[in-house]
Amino acid sequence: MDFTDLTKKLSWRGFIPVKCRNGKEAADKILSLIPVNETVGTGGSVTLSQLDVKTKLAERGNRFFDRNAYESAAHADWFLSSANALTENGDIVNIDGSANRVSSLIFGVTNVIYAIGKNKIVKDLDAAIDRIRNYTCHLNAVRLGKSTPCAITGKCGNCTGKECMCNVTTIVHHPTRYQEKVYVLLIDEELGY
Ligand code: SF4
Repeated sequence: MDFTDLTKKLSWRGFIPVKCRNGKEAADKILSLIPVNETVGTGGSVTLSQLDVKTKLAERGNRFFDRNAYESAAHADWFLSSANALTENGDIVNIDGSANRVSSLIFGVTNVIYAIGKNKIVKDLDAAIDRIRNYTCHLNAVRLGKSTPCAITGKCGNCTGKECMCNVTTIVHHPTRYQEKVYVLLIDEELGY
């Protein structure tokens, strides 16, 4: 996939885009960007599991906080995540149930790395929300054993309540003034969902 146009748009927005040919290259890049003595937080992510990057970081000595240690993850030196969708204009869209992931992506952690497979790239914001509500959420709901309408029908039923996985939507247009480095790894491979 040719990421040239998207790379230009992300750079203009203040992100640091990095083109990766595949997941292995992305994992190597993540390991090279994060110093061994710095801490790393993350939320749940199928993409990061596929990259096996959490294990590699922990094995070489990085202190690692996952979503079970979300208070520490929110103050780590780095936060690692994929994204639910990335528009062709460079907006990064995520929807969370508990918001620990999206909150750390926008405030409290200085350096962020998004690892995004090419299957997450969509035309615009409407397509991003549609993708997440009618595709991603269904698969996550099934994976996590939720009883939401999307888990049953495969389509969003606009649920509310404790089981809802769509309580907060974030659209990141640019890095904030409190963030130093926000990398967007554009991976030419289908990863996560
Ligand atoms: S709002 Fe509810 S039904 Fe719709 S996608 Fe989210 S969790 Fe599923």
